[in-house]
Amino acid sequence: MPKKVVLIVIDGLTPSVFEAAVGDRRAPALTFLAEHGRYERAVTTFPSLTPVCLSSLATGGHPDVHHIPHLVWYHRAERRIVEYGSSFGALRAAGMTRGILDTIINMNRQHLSPDCVTVFEALEDTGLTAAAINITCYRGRTPHLPTLPGIPIPAYGPKRFFYYSLFESDATGAPLAVFGRAGGSIDGYAAAVGRWLVTRDGFDFLAYYLPDYDFASHAFGPEGAAEALVRSDAAVGALLDAAGGPDEFLERYAVLFCSDHGQTRVDRHASLQASFADSDEVVVTASNRAGMVYGPDARSLAERLDGVSAADVALFLEDGEGVARRDGEELRFAATEDGFRTNGDESILDQPDALARAWAALHNPNAGDVIVSAEAGTEFADLAGRHHSGGGSHGSLLTGDSEVPMLTIGPSPRWRRNASMSSTFSSST
Ligand SMILES: [Zn+2]
Repeated sequence: MPKKVVLIVIDGLTPSVFEAAVGDRRAPALTFLAEHGRYERAVTTFPSLTPVCLSSLATGGHPDVHHIPHLVWYHRAERRIVEYGSSFGALRAAGMTRGILDTIINMNRQHLSPDCVTVFEALEDTGLTAAAINITCYRGRTPHLPTLPGIPIPAYGPKRFFYYSLFESDATGAPLAVFGRAGGSIDGYAAAVGRWLVTRDGFDFLAYYLPDYDFASHAFGPEGAAEALVRSDAAVGALLDAAGGPDEFLERYAVLFCSDHGQTRVDRHASLQASFADSDEVVVTASNRAGMVYGPDARSLAERLDGVSAADVALFLEDGEGVARRDGEELRFAATEDGFRTNGDESILDQPDALARAWAALHNPNAGDVIVSAEAGTEFADLAGRHHSGGGSHGSLLTGDSEVPMLTIGPSPRWRRNASMSSTFSSST
């Protein structure tokens, strides 16, 4: 009899913070899970930003499969900028109503490739019941109308769908999820809904997404957010309690626990837009530690970044090959049947899984003509000039932004990439 599965994602949790919190038992629920599972460090996709990473978790594919390129990007067909909420100011700069609609509805309904399959769609197509709490890549086949009057636009999610109090498939009595997240109210909402679902054993698969930790880590830096992790841990503990205790929880469910990306300390910020300010043919979208440049002649756009210290690696496609450029040095690379062939300075793409991640990012039709990975310690200011300098950030190819904790409890998963857009992950029992 296959076990039901709970996927728990703590946004922005780095392996080292997870390992330390489990090591000194500050996070009791995560410590219990770690003592009963297999732990490893894993590598997320690129750009290592939440909409991209959650879409990869939900589809099992890189951005070449799911087509979500960044937190902020240029929509070529609609000739406009799509902004999923880099900051409140950036949302306002992009058009508040449009930005909210892009984030809540359009990302799943229009931007996520119609050719890929989400885990929610795959499971419900076989007759199972999927549930999603707050995960922003949620596409399913059941229409849900918002709880707020005045937005008559349905979101298509799994049968059991809960999204920041805006969409609720069932009345659970959970408190309102308020968007001022410093106090951790979003995870508190998730915990209340999760408790309700586990008490009723109301799903075969649950995606349980906890964003508050990332918010704290941006503000205080990855090593300064320990208190926030204790709150996220309590939200995990609420699931264990609802099953009647931790052992009872693991009798009923297999668990996958991970984060969507890491974070690194940033102490300076730069404007990627400034490097192209003299050209009205060029659109730059940048936020956190990755940037996109849209314009003619990718090579000349990338060469303009040669002397820009904030830009660590500039990536573009040329003659069917990928080109990675750093300070005038280049590495050319291309996928082969069993890996990659390369030609040039291999140190330019020596970050974790960098060839595959860069190749997939470049083959996303919504990506910029040049994709920029920021140097260590630097963040690109967003549309409104906002940044997290003095705190934490992520988005680049570098190890700290890319490595995530990965814990599996229960059946050992057979990991498989969704390269053929057919399947995500499956468990062996
Ligand atoms: Zn973040």
